[in-house]
Amino acid sequence: MSAPSIPFDNSYARLPDKFFAPITPTPVAAPRLIKINTALARTLGIDPDKLASPEGAAILAGNTVPENATPIAQAYAGHQFGGLSPKLGDGRAILLGEVIGQDGIRRDIQLKGSGPTPFSRRGDGRAALGPVLREYLVSEAMAALGVPTTRSLAAVMTGEPVYRETPLPGAVLARVASSHIRIGTFQYFAIRQDVDAIRTLADYAIARHYPDVAAAENPYRAFFDAVLSRQADLIARWLGLGFIHGVMNTDNMTISGETIDYGPCAFMDSFNPAQVYSSIDQHGRYAWGNQPRIAQWNLARLIETLLPLLDPDETVAQAQAQTAIDNFAPTFNAAFTRVLSKKIGLTIAIEGDLALAQDLLDRMAANSADFTLTFRRLAEAIEADVPDGPRSLFDDPKAFDDWAATWRQRLAQEPMTAAQRRDLIRQANPAFIPRNHRIEQVIAAATVHGDFAPFEKLHAILAHPFDDQPESAAFMDPPQPDEIVHATFCGT
Ligand code: AMP
Ligand code: MG
Repeated sequence: MSAPSIPFDNSYARLPDKFFAPITPTPVAAPRLIKINTALARTLGIDPDKLASPEGAAILAGNTVPENATPIAQAYAGHQFGGLSPKLGDGRAILLGEVIGQDGIRRDIQLKGSGPTPFSRRGDGRAALGPVLREYLVSEAMAALGVPTTRSLAAVMTGEPVYRETPLPGAVLARVASSHIRIGTFQYFAIRQDVDAIRTLADYAIARHYPDVAAAENPYRAFFDAVLSRQADLIARWLGLGFIHGVMNTDNMTISGETIDYGPCAFMDSFNPAQVYSSIDQHGRYAWGNQPRIAQWNLARLIETLLPLLDPDETVAQAQAQTAIDNFAPTFNAAFTRVLSKKIGLTIAIEGDLALAQDLLDRMAANSADFTLTFRRLAEAIEADVPDGPRSLFDDPKAFDDWAATWRQRLAQEPMTAAQRRDLIRQANPAFIPRNHRIEQVIAAATVHGDFAPFEKLHAILAHPFDDQPESAAFMDPPQPDEIVHATFCGT
């Protein structure tokens, strides 16, 4: 079979040289396809059968540079755990180029783990199989859950070991994003006091992601407001799923508002707002409940870079920036209220709804209730006390019963049949999330035994997170005590 043709149209590589370093992927010993995302390939205008052929796998592994690609490593900086790194950049990722999909949307195709770049510092530019499988599963699960996210187009084995604490099989992930522009990309130029570059980048990001703001009175302010709004919405969705990103550094927050970088991320089992999994997050900076505050902190770093564009008068620009950043709390609260209201089956907004939902969260936390199952089982508890429903998930089931009595009174104010409400609650609350222990089982089977069947099975279940799938009911369950994952690690 011939190599797939990829309809590249590369706009980022046409930006000034200082935005990136041209670099080709480093070939690997023995590319072997693990998984291909057929539907996504079609959306991108790529023939999935050709992409799955040996010629396609050679492209996905970085052994062949496809026609019309302009491979580059993007430059960026970033605050990592609050400390500024002036030069990060793609240390183990190479952007092959962009395609405009069948849906008219421009997207990046990037290889992650494809060899060193000028930004690699002491890293090897490679990725181990485990983190690649994790990112494939979790990013695709997020997409199925309706959360804006980068996507996974393919995963391949390299046939070469990577050396972490032990030798591990190497792999490359083909990642697709509506762009890889990060807050840290703006910071890279702000640190260098390169206002022209910031303007070029902002204009590029506006044209690519927020074309509507170009006509605003102050397009750069409107651009910031639009980014803030998307990020507030994103974080509200994360919180509503018990998702902990784990490494919300400014280089890991996209301007598009898509979730990116599934390193030490995790979905919570029993609810604890202070929950952290990442082994490097020792002070809980990126705990579940801290994520809104951190998003706002990151956005403050973004608007700092835009100050020279906001107004020629520095004092005026500062004042504008303050007003803009102060909008985060109300914007986030509105988004979080929408998310939680939907989760508890409310369709009309009434004063007190957020407090009602928060009360449930407080009781879940005090009673170690499983986050996902509690919300999912609300569908069973609409009408009256039931023997099971969510109550058995609470250490003290009465904590749920008391809340549910108030909740049912609130539901009575809504025009809807019980059946309709049950459906709404089920559509807002997944049965299946990528639970840590399941991901670990998948990774162990693939890494230790070369067995990808568990990966395929979990992937298939997570493609339909809102369906019951009785044959896979065990995948809804929280971990047994000996299965609990206490720490996750960065993808490096
Ligand atoms: P991350 O924690 O994945 O967001 O990565 C932070 C920075 O480290 C980015 O600049 C990455 O490109 C870089 N990096 C991570 N892992 C490696 C690696 N194995 N080789 C080279 N650079 C890496
Ligand atoms: Mg990153």
